[in-house]
Amino acid sequence: MPTDVTIDRTRLATLLDRERSAYTAAHPRSAELFGAADHLFGRVPMTWMAKWSGGFPLYLDTAHGNTITDVDGRTYIDFALGDTGAMAGHSPAATVAAVRERLEVGGGVTTMLPTADAEWVGAELSRRFKLPLWSFTLTATDANRWAIRLARIATRRPKILVFSYCYHGSVDEIFAVPGPDGVAVARPGNAGPPVPMDLTTRVVEFNDAAALERELAHGDVAAVLMEPALTNIGIVLPEPGFLERVRELCTAAGTLLMIDETHTFSAGWGGATTAWDLEPDIFVIGKSIGGGIPSGAYGISAEVARLVGADADADLVDVGGVGGTLAGNALSVSAMRATLEQVLTPEAFDGMIALATRFTEGVQATIDRTGVAWSVQQLGARSEYRFASPAPTTGTASAESADDELDEYVHLFMANRGVLITPFHNMALMCPTTTTDDVDRHTEVFAACVDELVGTGPVA
Ligand code: PMP
Repeated sequence: MPTDVTIDRTRLATLLDRERSAYTAAHPRSAELFGAADHLFGRVPMTWMAKWSGGFPLYLDTAHGNTITDVDGRTYIDFALGDTGAMAGHSPAATVAAVRERLEVGGGVTTMLPTADAEWVGAELSRRFKLPLWSFTLTATDANRWAIRLARIATRRPKILVFSYCYHGSVDEIFAVPGPDGVAVARPGNAGPPVPMDLTTRVVEFNDAAALERELAHGDVAAVLMEPALTNIGIVLPEPGFLERVRELCTAAGTLLMIDETHTFSAGWGGATTAWDLEPDIFVIGKSIGGGIPSGAYGISAEVARLVGADADADLVDVGGVGGTLAGNALSVSAMRATLEQVLTPEAFDGMIALATRFTEGVQATIDRTGVAWSVQQLGARSEYRFASPAPTTGTASAESADDELDEYVHLFMANRGVLITPFHNMALMCPTTTTDDVDRHTEVFAACVDELVGTGPVA
């Protein structure tokens, strides 16, 4: 078996040219719409959509389950699934029915009034993620922002501690990496930070409990905000004992543990919190729980609620900095109820996780057979490959293994053969309608992609 095959960059450039040409030729209508989008900043509805490989994004025609059809009439097996927003599949029937009912029969989306669905959803979130008290948002970003404010009220401390190369949405406090002396500095690419990072943030590497202990000892950290496994810089899994140590250190330092499971929900029906028996003080989730309808939530412990409630000056019911007019609206809450009750069920997770295992094994088999120095990591229903081996154990190490050319080659090779993975790195997610045939198709295309890359014959 070959080991650590090096990538021939000239060959990669030739292959990339071929894939780019094929992509352009296959998508004239998408290219035309992109070319005509003169009134969109960056020619896309949101700047990150420029991340899709090939020079322009595919334009959506239809999306059902895990099948996407673009405006050129081409269909794809979708493993990107809205970067987790569509973990329930696109337009799941139960969610669509509930949303229709709300819109057409009940009527009213933004009435400023609660509906009975809200308590059902709160109770269900408690069952899955342990915490007793919930508030709703429309995005995970907002859930993080508002929960950070509650953490500051509860602890009367100013700072948030995060892990290097984490992502929790466009939350000002989080875009930090450790500087030379361990003090937080802005991470590369941090767009328009409001204040120097060290005023708001402490930062350490994932899996480094000693550094965490050192930084918490300053006594100024309100909350450690973390994913139980990093998922936005490839998947970086916790080493054995790390998460238990984080919990102990937070308790000892009087710091709240704030767990963001927006992506790691893939670990199971109750996220990593239930699968790995974690004990958050604050819990954040967004994206998937509304089956595609904007939804998010944060949960707090009874103790956090007590501490926040004890601050008579904190304005939580008007314009004090926590909340959004559209948050908790009747449509969003009905979508969360239907999705949690009928779509993202324990049985659905069992199937999705089994498929992700099959997916991961397929990728690993090609890595082993060809000898490329890559790795693949699974986190429940999601799987991701990384151009590094062994798999990185910190965010910084994972960031250093980024390879834009390889990313583009793999993404285009996949898209040109009817498979979509996330535009950000190489993540694949399973949803309730993903099938073994879909997974096996990816395995087949991935094998062909790597074989061409490491091959020595002429490029076809
Ligand atoms: N938390 C995590 C862990 C995320 O990965 C993301 C987005 N990728 C967010 C929060 C923010 O989600 P949104 O952009 O939907 O607000």
